[in-house]
Amino acid sequence: MNPGSVPRVLIVDDEPANVRVLAEALQGAYDLRFATDGERALGLAMALPADLILLDVVMPGLDGFELLRRLKAQPATRDVPVIFVTALSEVGEEERGFAAGAVDYITKPISPPIVRARVRTHLELKRQRDLLEQRALIDGLTGIANRRRFDEEWARRAAAAFEQRLPVGVLLVDIDHFKQYNDHYGHGPGDDCLRRVATALQESCQRAGDLAARYGGEEFVIVRAAGSTGEMDSHASQLLQAVRRLDLPHVKSSTGPRVSISIGAVERVPDLGDGRDLLENADRLLYEAKRRGRNRCVLAGADITATRVLQGEETP
Ligand SMILES: [Mg+2]
Repeated sequence: MNPGSVPRVLIVDDEPANVRVLAEALQGAYDLRFATDGERALGLAMALPADLILLDVVMPGLDGFELLRRLKAQPATRDVPVIFVTALSEVGEEERGFAAGAVDYITKPISPPIVRARVRTHLELKRQRDLLEQRALIDGLTGIANRRRFDEEWARRAAAAFEQRLPVGVLLVDIDHFKQYNDHYGHGPGDDCLRRVATALQESCQRAGDLAARYGGEEFVIVRAAGSTGEMDSHASQLLQAVRRLDLPHVKSSTGPRVSISIGAVERVPDLGDGRDLLENADRLLYEAKRRGRNRCVLAGADITATRVLQGEETP
């Protein structure tokens, strides 16, 4: 659920009269969508993700239980809370519903205040859950995406690139002589340095689909948006410059008087479905950038042995 957006509620019931009563109860506060059969409800839930679903149990064709089972089987709809709406008052049916993954039950005849209260409660729970999940994907120190978020995103992008035989670009970034920075300035300023570099890297990823993440320690990783092939050099230059422009003094750096970064960058079609080979390439190129004196980027394309070097601006 996006903060500040109107929650979307999908109402599914084969009887239009029931749909109307539920819609009237919830009118005004939500983005309401309707379906009068299970198949259509499933299509709608897939196409337009809902924040909550009110689901009639007894419907011809795809009934509530079967629809819930299918919703739970799809990653896109698995976490959407479903409240069963039913005239069935048997305890066994309710148990079956909860076992199938419904979060709550509302019984017919429908009481509007009860519908409103239950919907409000479960939307609030979902909002809190979404927030926690979002926090779990953000690096606590720097505020950019964390390693877990990167791993998930990389798995997806690498698999897609591998299947479609399309190149994907990845850059590994390391802050030069960061240990010396921490030792000399202390951990507080060290953390501040990490935050500022992280922000600068993120701001240099301007295409929708570019992802900057903390890879671990003083290492960062950037996945390039799909379809941005060939702009790797300019992107790498921007990153080097962005950190240079932070103008953070680093008196213990043997590379220069200010904080700088080294980058290993590769853009090609993965040989492996998980893209592990590209990360290994980027790591080797990063090592090469450090070996050549740091404050630079070493890049490679389809031919991993044909490398190019972009030197960062010399700092007087
Ligand atoms: Mg029905």
